[in-house]
Amino acid sequence: PKKIIIQHETKDELQKLAVTFNRMIGRLEANLEKQRQFISDASHELKTPLTVIKSYADLLLRRGLKNEEVAHDAIESIHSEATRIQKMTERFLDLADTESGNRLEAKSINLVSLCENLFKQIKSAYKREINLHYQKQAISVLADEVKLKQAIIILIDNAIKYSTDTIDVYLTENEQLTIITVKDYGIGIPACEIENIFERFYRVDKARSRETGGTGLGLSIAKNIMKQHHGEIIVKSTEGVGTEVELFLPKQKGKVFE
Ligand code: ADP
Repeated sequence: PKKIIIQHETKDELQKLAVTFNRMIGRLEANLEKQRQFISDASHELKTPLTVIKSYADLLLRRGLKNEEVAHDAIESIHSEATRIQKMTERFLDLADTESGNRLEAKSINLVSLCENLFKQIKSAYKREINLHYQKQAISVLADEVKLKQAIIILIDNAIKYSTDTIDVYLTENEQLTIITVKDYGIGIPACEIENIFERFYRVDKARSRETGGTGLGLSIAKNIMKQHHGEIIVKSTEGVGTEVELFLPKQKGKVFE
C-alpha cells in the first residue's frame, strides 16, 4: 500500500481545522441544550393552565349543567387560563421570531409620534397615566417599526403591572444614540435579581407575575429586539422605589443594520 506523507504545514492546517471544528460543535451543543431547556420550560409553563382547564372541564361534565353558579365559575376559569395559554404561545412565537435571522424592515421613524400614538391607545385601554417627555418634536430613528413598538409595549406593560402610579417616558438623543427611557415608581427589583430578569421564563415573584398575566418572556424578547438593532437594553431599579429601563439605539446606519 502507498504511504501517505503529511507535510508539516498540512499538519498545522489540519490541527487548526480540528480546533475550529471543535468550537463549532461546542456552540452547536450549547444551542441544542438551550433549545432543550426551552422546550422543557415551555411545557412546564403550559402544564399548569392546561391542568386547571382540564379539572374545570371535568367539573362541568360532572356537575356544571345542574348548577348554574358552578358552571359560571368553571367557565370563567377556563376562559382566563385559555387566555393565558394564548398569550404565552404568542410570546413563544415572538421569541422565535426575534431569535431568527429574519431581516429587520428598517425605515426612518419619528419616535415622538410613534410614542404619542401608542400611548393614546394604551392609556384608553389601561386607564393609566403615561407622561411623554421630549425636547424636540421630531426624534428620528432608523428601526423596524413593528419590533420597536413591541419592545416599548413590553416595557410599558411591565411598568403597568409592577407599579400603580404614573409612568414617565423620556426620549433623548446624543450624537451616537437615541435613548428611550421608561420609568415607573413601583415595587422595583432587588439588586441581586437584575442579572436574572433577561433570562427566559425568569420572574422575580412568580405568583405575582402569574396574577398580572406575566410570562417571564417579555424582557428576553425586548433584549433580542435591541440586539437585532445593534442596540442595548439596561435596567436600573431600586426595590420599593421604582424601575428605569433604557433602550439604546445606535444612530449610524451601518452599525445599526448589517
Ligand atoms: P413578565 O411577563 O413576568 O413581566 P418579563 O420578562 O417582562 O416577564 O420580566 C421578568 C421579571 O422582571 C418580571 O416577572 C418581574 O419580576 C421583573 N420586572 C420586569 N419589569 C419590572 C418593573 N418595571 N418593575 C418591577 N419588576 C419588574
